[in-house]
Amino acid sequence: MQFGYDGGCMVYRYKGGERQFLFLTKEPRGRLDLPKGHIEKGESVEAAAIRETKEETGLDVKLDRFFRFTVAFYFMAEGEKIRNSVRYFLSQVSPDAQVRVSHEHTGFVWLTYDEAMKRWKFKKDLIRETNSYIDRLEAMEKLNDEYSRLPAKGAWDLSPAFVPGEGPLNARVMLIGQAPGAEEDVQRRPFVGRSGVLLSHLLRLAGLRRDSIYITSVVQFFPPKNRMPSPEEVRACRPYLTRQIELIKPELIVLLGALSSKELAGVENIMQEHGKIVEKGNRYFVTIHPAAAVRLQKNVPLIEHDFRKLKGLLPPPELKQGHGKRHVRAGKC
Ligand code: URA
Repeated sequence: MQFGYDGGCMVYRYKGGERQFLFLTKEPRGRLDLPKGHIEKGESVEAAAIRETKEETGLDVKLDRFFRFTVAFYFMAEGEKIRNSVRYFLSQVSPDAQVRVSHEHTGFVWLTYDEAMKRWKFKKDLIRETNSYIDRLEAMEKLNDEYSRLPAKGAWDLSPAFVPGEGPLNARVMLIGQAPGAEEDVQRRPFVGRSGVLLSHLLRLAGLRRDSIYITSVVQFFPPKNRMPSPEEVRACRPYLTRQIELIKPELIVLLGALSSKELAGVENIMQEHGKIVEKGNRYFVTIHPAAAVRLQKNVPLIEHDFRKLKGLLPPPELKQGHGKRHVRAGKC
């Protein structure tokens, strides 16, 4: 059996207050298609998606940082069975972006979600998941905007810099730390300091790619001198954390350290409970905070052991869905 691997792009815009998706058409009967094509030698799948979209639609697209949806299918050519996967990315364009189709297609059409679901016959999950992803993207933007304004509301002893959560909004695994550190406060990204370096190593042990999980913290503002956030600060931020979990709906939530483990899973003693699953509304995996292992070398083997264990607990597609590998299955990130 032969394998093929393509990059493609779901392009959308807002026009007249409507969200519309771009499809290419082919005669006869105006069959719908999407911008996509083969990866050229030395090219990444992202670069192939951008190039093919430019060639087939004339549009210069900027891909959403985290959205990926892979569609796998089989077809026969010259008596041989061929397995092809297309990894789709996502891009929003302006309402007046001009589409110019290449010789491969005869036209194009902008369709609303309902129209697309009626007319797109093949793997409707692609359209469904893309539309739901955009809903979540917009809801998360709104949430982050509100959350980032908390410091303006009154007495505030945390840094005023908001560090948003990061990762795909349809991630199957979510990771919740305590609060940003000094480096995160500067870069405004979670886990980019010394704990972040250790976290990347731990994720590799668990067979997870950092860009396939959603990373956030109980409190998303740096507590000066790295102090523990106060109960009032945790309470003020809690509704935003709850809403993030509701938006992402992860299958598994990894709780890093005592604060998130107590707050979400009711764990009283992290050193006794780490490495365990707790079912409490959500499915939690409790572990030590990487910062505790950065501070205290003797915690390193304990946390490494937890992350190795985590690998065995994850449902299989998370491990099979590589980014840029050939053995992907149809499905989300
Ligand atoms: N520790 C956390 O809990 N969160 C971060 O973002 C960084 C370090």
